[in-house]
Amino acid sequence: SGVDVAVVGSVNLDLTVPVGRVPRPGETVLGADARRGPGGKGANQAVACARLGLRTAMIGCVGEDADGGMLAERLRAEGVDVRHLVPVPAPTGLAMIILEEGDGESTIVVSPGANGRLDAGRVRAAEGTITGARAVLAQLEIPIPAVAEAVRLATGTVVLNPAPARPLPRELLSRVDVLVPNRHELAVLCQAPTPESPDEVADLARSLLPGGPRAVVVTLGADGAMVVTADGVARVPAVPVRAVDATAAGDSFCAGLVAGLLAGEPLAEAAARGCRAAAVTVSRPGAIDALPTAADLAAPPAPGPAASPA
Ligand code: ATP
Repeated sequence: SGVDVAVVGSVNLDLTVPVGRVPRPGETVLGADARRGPGGKGANQAVACARLGLRTAMIGCVGEDADGGMLAERLRAEGVDVRHLVPVPAPTGLAMIILEEGDGESTIVVSPGANGRLDAGRVRAAEGTITGARAVLAQLEIPIPAVAEAVRLATGTVVLNPAPARPLPRELLSRVDVLVPNRHELAVLCQAPTPESPDEVADLARSLLPGGPRAVVVTLGADGAMVVTADGVARVPAVPVRAVDATAAGDSFCAGLVAGLLAGEPLAEAAARGCRAAAVTVSRPGAIDALPTAADLAAPPAPGPAASPA
């Protein structure tokens, strides 16, 4: 039988160097010990789904290099089916992260490398896995034709996290069941200014529905999420936690949402599960290391200050 979720997306090596201060152009600074680990929204979401107990397949490209082998091995160790994580003749995707100590702000260069080689043909090579999956989860760190082919082939629930933000063809959006943007990504999709008030968010999300996705779930950081369908708008509160590192919060949210949908929960309940997963990730440092297991979600959340009022 098929997998629960086929994740179609990017796999990067995250190379993080903590520094006291970001160098100016032409300058050299000494950093602390470098950390190398898996990253990329595709890999993050695949690991997040696997940790939540979903049978998960990753569809993507890595390089025919040591980094690619290491990343495939790490995903496999997390329980992700990597048969369709294809080595291609291009360097493995790389995110060079200069992490400024103190405020923890990051300066990042992403080199997509092998991720840019995922085309419609390579997605079609995974057709059986995609059509057999109960859900398909994709993001936009891979070429749009690859995303379009995956949603075209999908027979299960299609969830698209349109990050990083870019405008999408209407045809693609019409095949999406649940679109999961943050406020900024929603604005780019609608080619409008970033919405500020909840009413503005709801209006913009609603404008995507005719001929578009069946539902839009907008993530709102510490304000939780908003579920917008033709039936109306529902607010889903964030789970109050002490925020340590928001990296991969959106990825964790998407995995929780998919787990909820596959458990047969109504959309608002699935979004609440997404908020619970994301809250755990926000309360821990790192990206993949901060992703919760199903057991983490069953336990009460770590105490923290109340989320800011919506
Ligand atoms: P990222 O790019 O960091 O992955 P994002 O911009 O895609 O995040 P956000 O809307 O910032 O997504 O956050 C996703 C989800 O994470 C929110 O819907 C919320 O459930 C949770 N979250 C984010 N920040 C907080 C916080 N401070 N406290 C509790 N939950 C949070």
